[in-house]
Amino acid sequence: MIPMFDEGTVALVTGASGGIGRACALELASHGVTVIVNYCHNRDGAAETLNRILSAGGRGAIIQADIASEEDTERMFRKIQAAFGGIRVLINNAGIIKDGYAMMMPDDAFRQVIDTNLTGTFHCAREALRMMAAAEKGSIVNIASTTGITGSVGQVNYSASKGGIIALTKTLAREYANRGIRVNAVAPGYIETDMIQANRGIYEKQYMHMIPFRRFGQPEEVATAATFLASNHASYITGAVLTADGGMTA
Ligand code: NAP
Repeated sequence: MIPMFDEGTVALVTGASGGIGRACALELASHGVTVIVNYCHNRDGAAETLNRILSAGGRGAIIQADIASEEDTERMFRKIQAAFGGIRVLINNAGIIKDGYAMMMPDDAFRQVIDTNLTGTFHCAREALRMMAAAEKGSIVNIASTTGITGSVGQVNYSASKGGIIALTKTLAREYANRGIRVNAVAPGYIETDMIQANRGIYEKQYMHMIPFRRFGQPEEVATAATFLASNHASYITGAVLTADGGMTA
């Protein structure tokens, strides 16, 4: 049986101060991966993620960076290179929402979501690819969304960013397959995290009847999908978009 991860694998999980990112960090750590926990504003949340990793006997570190900023992202990867000698796994998870109907949406709300979700994903992927290409081995998992496949009322900025992530994933998969790097995406449906709390009632009313499982997902149910794609067990899979949505887009 091939081990899920090679001995000494180091992973970076962006936006791991809570929600899906924290679940990914904990899941990877439970398979012996050293996990670098990135956060932007929530230092306590990142520290909590790291504490949980360490108390379960795992290894990790925390690192702050705003992935929407090219400079900040480059600084983060320089630090990672110096401290860990690179990464083999990147979970590109950090993301935000700023919902509103298209006719009323100001440029700022559109741009901020694209800058974080899509450009931020690109910033981290580019840095990771440079590290992985040198080693001729690596795996990137981008956290997209079913909204990037189907669209979503009131989320033109978010859906566009997630559709962009799917296209970016497929392009990078083609571009770097010959360097031993796999690039895949997970497209979650509605998952119980802080991100959906403010609008939970609306989502429940509008979308619950469309979910065959008749429940929202848990962050851990996305984390296991992301960890599989990141692992050696997905060695022949690249450019895939794995939905984790209770059958909503089936
Ligand atoms: P969440 O609990 O709100 O977590 C978002 C994470 O992203 C936080 O750790 C946050 O860090 C980080 N982040 C935001 N902006 C950042 C930036 N500029 N630089 C670095 N980190 C940043 O949301 P979640 O539900 O876990 O979402 C995680 C991912 O799953 C997102 O990409 C989201 O779009 C996607 N997703 C979620 C759902 C859902 O239903 N929840 C569905 C589909 C896809 P700080 O708090 O430290 O700022």
